[in-house]
Amino acid sequence: MELSDNIIYTAMQRLVMIHYQKIVYADLTDDTYFVLKTTGSDWNLNIENSKGRKLSEWFTFFIKSPLCHEDDKKHLEKILNVSNLKETFEKNNNQTIVISYRRKFDNQDVEFHLVTLEIIPDISKSGHLIIFMFVHDITNDEKVYSAKLQTFEENKKFIQHNLKSGKRKILIVEDDKMNMSLLKNMLEDEYEIMEAQNGLLGLEILADNYKKISAILLDIYMPIVSGFEFLEKINKDSMLSNIPIIVTTVSETSKDEEKCLRLGAADFIKKPYNPQVLKMKLDSIIKMSERSFILSSIEFDDLTGLYTKEAFYHHAEKLFKENPDISFDLILSTLDNLNQISEQYGDNVGRQIVSHIGNKLALFKQPKMILSRIRDGIFANLMVHSEETDSQRLLDLVETFTEGAITNDIITKFAVYKNVDKTLPVSVITERTLSALESITHKIDKNVVYYDNKIIYQQKLNAEMEENFESSLENGDFEIWFQPKYSASTQSINGAEALIRWRNKDGSLIPPNSFIPLFERDGLIKKLDEYVFSSVCEYQRKRLEKGLKVIPISINLSRVTIFNTNLAPQYSNIVEDYEIPKNIVPIEITESAAFLSRDIKNFADPFNKYGFELHMDDFGSGYSSLASLQFLHFDTIKLDKSLVNFIGTQGGDSLLRHTISFAKETGINVVAEGVETEEQFNFLKTSNCDTIQGYYFSKPLPLKEFDEIY
Ligand code: C2E
Ligand code: CA
Ligand code: CA
Repeated sequence: MELSDNIIYTAMQRLVMIHYQKIVYADLTDDTYFVLKTTGSDWNLNIENSKGRKLSEWFTFFIKSPLCHEDDKKHLEKILNVSNLKETFEKNNNQTIVISYRRKFDNQDVEFHLVTLEIIPDISKSGHLIIFMFVHDITNDEKVYSAKLQTFEENKKFIQHNLKSGKRKILIVEDDKMNMSLLKNMLEDEYEIMEAQNGLLGLEILADNYKKISAILLDIYMPIVSGFEFLEKINKDSMLSNIPIIVTTVSETSKDEEKCLRLGAADFIKKPYNPQVLKMKLDSIIKMSERSFILSSIEFDDLTGLYTKEAFYHHAEKLFKENPDISFDLILSTLDNLNQISEQYGDNVGRQIVSHIGNKLALFKQPKMILSRIRDGIFANLMVHSEETDSQRLLDLVETFTEGAITNDIITKFAVYKNVDKTLPVSVITERTLSALESITHKIDKNVVYYDNKIIYQQKLNAEMEENFESSLENGDFEIWFQPKYSASTQSINGAEALIRWRNKDGSLIPPNSFIPLFERDGLIKKLDEYVFSSVCEYQRKRLEKGLKVIPISINLSRVTIFNTNLAPQYSNIVEDYEIPKNIVPIEITESAAFLSRDIKNFADPFNKYGFELHMDDFGSGYSSLASLQFLHFDTIKLDKSLVNFIGTQGGDSLLRHTISFAKETGINVVAEGVETEEQFNFLKTSNCDTIQGYYFSKPLPLKEFDEIY
């Protein structure tokens, strides 16, 4: 395999997805570079034979030239230096580096550029540090105002504790007037005291002042809301539960004390009070909680400045209580391809995009609206209910999100729960909307989902499917169908893929897309995949016994099982039980956009070790990179239908041809999936594709029919 091919095809794949202005291949060890492609020009395919130019000279030339913005020169001198770059890569474990700078034109125009520097594996094993530089022009991004080097140093920014100066505030919740004044007398020199005559008042004071209160002294036996109930309520509220509480008690039984501690009390003190002991306990508890805890850091997310999930729950509950007559809508939005962006451009760019969206979202802030980053790339927006067309609201959101972002390939998805049921805890409302959001995660054709009757109906269906799972498995209601694969050259059958279907009580067939995503979420998929695998092994065994022709039948392994480390030995045991060779039951696994290639590697390595044949499914549908293939040890790639559909377009033909020939040179077989037309078949055949699967030859067939065609 030629080094140059690998480079070009990898870069090319990337170029199809994202519009780079320029792609440069550089060898930092040799201090050389080649421009692979600039916008509009053809690929420079002659790296192997041509002599590269000096990278350091190019850097110096650029910095000295009038092309470089004056204010960036000094900074770039430090960054654009071959040995400094090497060092930066080393310091950051070879993670992607992003450099931004301004470029000047004759007419005084300025263009913002962003260069992603990415290490590519050194296939020639020369020990050289080889990188790609993807130059991206982002003229409109105000974010990249001056030259910056962004690496992956942990964001050490520590939110400074808003040190409570002077006297700490404490809240005393106590119904007995005598006791109250006693405590006040003891403590008012050192603390500022807020009083509540019962638990209910205490909770009200807390709701408004929780940030200012350093500790609570709580009586257990009170009318209206007892100390126990008070503790219980606070314990449920993640913002409040961080305030240390000392329980005051007369009781001699340790049962009460135990109960209080279990409910989250920090300590207790017995009446009659010993002032010395009380002060000491208060002081040490406050100090401890201040040292170990920083309230502001859990209220606001440091990346976006929005509320954290805990703070969101707290403020939303409060908003509901204060506005009993107002209805609210909850919109959750997510960056569907955050993982992929992070893998492609580096974690830092991923973080920047999250922060960018957080900032944009904050611009939407209106009265009675609460914004939060729930986690990762998921944002919550709780707002006053409106009947207005949501699509416009959401479109506005998408536009603002993507406008001015570092990359133009952000995919956003929304889940909307209109007129939320305020009798439910906010956490439940949020979880439900989240599960609606999950139902469209990584689905290309759906960007908005409503939590409504349909979803409730779907959730009921889901519950039913989960309930029927075991019995269906036993009754054989899960049927395995087979789609034959054909040799492109001889047009004879050379394999098949096992595909699951679910036979309904009324006799109809449920397609896998209706239940697999659900079983992937709840984990049942593991059992189902194992069932399919065993059944196929059994089928192969029977054919072997009967002396019939045997062809490889591949089975699908769900992406979620990737994380199950024990899978390879388990599957190996199954094959050994049936005493069949492993190469007649290859395993298909999707290189999904949702997964990082290191996860795939962790999955692939053990399967390779146990001698399984691995097929990479849906190749080309995500961001699969050809270069990574040989490190991941896949025997076969299955070109996704979406790639096959490209046949007939200029870019598509050339990409497919290159992809196939790259794979072949690397010793990888190519199957084309979803082949429906003669034109597609002919093109694939002449492009050296090995195997064809698709309606052009055959749809998936039930066992009986399949069994008879070969
Ligand atoms: P997949 O693994 O990509 O399987 C190929 C799908 O494309 C199958 O859909 C097949 O019927 C369909 N197909 C094949 N040729 C053509 C064609 O020419 N045109 C069109 N339009 N479609 C074609 P199916 O059987 O509905 O399966 C859908 C997906 O469900 C599969 O996609 C796979 O991801 C999943 N799946 C099926 N069986 C299993 C299983 O046992 N375990 C797991 N984990 N997933 C499975
Ligand atoms: Ca498959
Ligand atoms: Ca596929």
